[in-house]
Amino acid sequence: MTDISAALLHWYDENARSLPWRGIHNPYLTWVSEAMLQQTRVETVLSYYPRFIARFPDLPSLASADESDVLKLWEGLGYYSRARNLLNGARQVMAEHGGILPSSPDELRRICGIGPYMAGAIASIAFSVPVPAVDGNVIRVISRLYNIRDDASSPSVRRRIEAHAAYLVPQERPGDHNQAVMDLGATVCVPGTPDCSRCPLSMFCEAFRGGSPADLPVLPRSKPQKVIPWTIVIIRSGSRILLRRRTEKLLQGLWCFPMLPGRVPADSLIDAVQSTLRLSAAHPVSQGTARHVFTHQIWDMSLYSLDTDPDIPAPSGYGWFALSSLEDLAFPSAMNAAVRAARKGAAD
Ligand code: SF4
Repeated sequence: MTDISAALLHWYDENARSLPWRGIHNPYLTWVSEAMLQQTRVETVLSYYPRFIARFPDLPSLASADESDVLKLWEGLGYYSRARNLLNGARQVMAEHGGILPSSPDELRRICGIGPYMAGAIASIAFSVPVPAVDGNVIRVISRLYNIRDDASSPSVRRRIEAHAAYLVPQERPGDHNQAVMDLGATVCVPGTPDCSRCPLSMFCEAFRGGSPADLPVLPRSKPQKVIPWTIVIIRSGSRILLRRRTEKLLQGLWCFPMLPGRVPADSLIDAVQSTLRLSAAHPVSQGTARHVFTHQIWDMSLYSLDTDPDIPAPSGYGWFALSSLEDLAFPSAMNAAVRAARKGAAD
């Protein structure tokens, strides 16, 4: 074990965050927690993980689930492809591995939705395989420890970072080591202003010695997100509302209200609904505006409610649903304001 790993494990023993997916020795639960933690804060996952594993306590129960039930439990967590991949991965493990997750990183990587980071995390945490799990936190810690001032997004630099990370993983307690690096990156060696005075690795840290760890890792400036205007229409037919299950890659499988491209002015709305949805609607009422930020785009939305005749057929690709469906169907967070407006309309 290197001096760095020993110092890190000593720190971890005293400072590890107490999290429900730790210390359980259950590869399935490690997998679920790692899928939820990708791109998501621990605090957010803490409210989703218990409900998910209460409903799907083991791999066979998840593998036999309906996608809509899985998405409903994922509702609001974002990055929904993770939920679909988890479900498809569980089915794959049932079909190809008799319901038992393999322990080798190479085999894990062949399972739907498990990439290099997650394979390393599951193998080390659940099976004590001494391999690294390199995510954004680890890239930051390693870049600072070794004062790597080259573009961390380039494949060659990434390989250097992975080699350093692999070198540090001890044969004993590799899972704890990896979780210690993650915890250090999340709580001490944070982006922007690392708290080096509290860091157990400061005596080994080249960037700290050099005096400028804050500007590491070096990453290319990300492109600004594209702002896309939408008009969301909440169309009621008696006590039913018009909904569509998305087939697009973004938010696939989740339910949305009809979305008209652009910000349609109120006095053109009836015509726009007619030409886009082939539906006669009336009485447009503004329900305010909403904004939702995705990784690569921002939805800038104006919301309207409209009424139509009780027995009018739904346009192709859409369906009429009872207002009570708002509780049962899985909507993305981008639709939160529209769901609230539809509920309010039902109560009025
Ligand atoms: Fe990060 Fe500072 Fe610790 Fe270096 S000394 S690993 S920069 S917190």
